[in-house]
Amino acid sequence: MIPYGRQSIDEEDINAVIQVLKSDWLTCGPKVSEFEDALAQECGAKFAIAVSNGTAALHIAALAAGLSNGDRAITSAISFLASANCIEYTGASTAFADIDPSTANISLESIKETWSENTKAVVAVDFAGQPCNLPEIGDFVKSKGGIIIEDAAHSIGASFEHMGKSYRVGGHPWADMTTFSFHPVKTITCGEGGAILTNNPVLADKCRLIRSHGMHKSTAEFKGLGNPELNEFGLWYYEMEEPGFNYRLTDIQCALGLSQMKKLTHFINRRRELAALYHSLFEKVANITPLKELGCNRSAYHLYPVLIDFEETGLTRSAVITKLGKIGIGSQVHYIPIPLQPYYRNKYGFCADQFPEALKYYKRCLSLPLFPSLTDKEAVFIAESLQRIIAP
Ligand SMILES: *Cc1c(COP(=O)(O)O)cnc(C)c1O
Repeated sequence: MIPYGRQSIDEEDINAVIQVLKSDWLTCGPKVSEFEDALAQECGAKFAIAVSNGTAALHIAALAAGLSNGDRAITSAISFLASANCIEYTGASTAFADIDPSTANISLESIKETWSENTKAVVAVDFAGQPCNLPEIGDFVKSKGGIIIEDAAHSIGASFEHMGKSYRVGGHPWADMTTFSFHPVKTITCGEGGAILTNNPVLADKCRLIRSHGMHKSTAEFKGLGNPELNEFGLWYYEMEEPGFNYRLTDIQCALGLSQMKKLTHFINRRRELAALYHSLFEKVANITPLKELGCNRSAYHLYPVLIDFEETGLTRSAVITKLGKIGIGSQVHYIPIPLQPYYRNKYGFCADQFPEALKYYKRCLSLPLFPSLTDKEAVFIAESLQRIIAP
């Protein structure tokens, strides 16, 4: 079975992990800061904070942004649950913007319509690996005094152009914090893992504090916190400012991440090659429409969703997925509109009419297999099979 996505692990990755298992540090050791430095360097950010998964990265970013009871934040109606749940964790309320139908990225117009007095942040998702309209979204949100968290779970290694200059995801000036996921289906993997990137030293410190119990361990950070009788600051000393979490990433995982990073450019180039091949195969096919890559963007192509009017084919999406599965082709649906999930519907009373583009997109989307080790021959087989199934 060809899955819709899968990791690429080689001997070098395996050896990197074995080396750590033989070393003194399984966690809290040198591989963590090595991985963080490599991430910051690769993306052009000042700070990177490695955390246990992409959801933890979003949770930490939402807390560092200061979200809490009485605040509100906006995310895209089409994303994975975590993009919205991270807002809920803080006690803030979640609002959703509709998407731009050509890219399935969050729509600036819809963000403007959804903005309200108590809105404090936008969690902007780079859907399928294509950066969303960050300069304009960023300018709007900044003008309102808000914070941008870029959910870049799909887009590590992507870049975009703005006024003749190229900017990397994780290292541009419009996002206050950018989060990555290193789940096996994402572009590079740690098994599980995540990171927050930022250029802001205050936010970086907050993120580190929340990652590890809200606890300071370096003498420079101790404040005494009103405990004069404890003021013998020895090597054992630690001091808690607020209840944080254990969201750390292990050295085992960071070693895998470091080894994967060396292949990031290759992975993205191969994903882009395969996407270009799919594009060319679907170019003249009626009723199979890939998402558009805007001229200013260089997508990381985490996913390859196509839009199909299933009514026109006389088959349900489920029937198409089953037929593909029978010949060994996996496919997937990314994603069910988050506001229509029972939790969000019940809590906020959302209905489908509020997100017409998200609903239209959802009814038509189907993600085809895309990962670096997929061969050209397999991609041709997938494209031709899909075409045969929907228009026999
Ligand atoms: C995968 C994903 C996440 C969550 O990442 P995990 O590492 O699985 O916790 C968040 N947002 C989006 C858009 C994702 O695709």
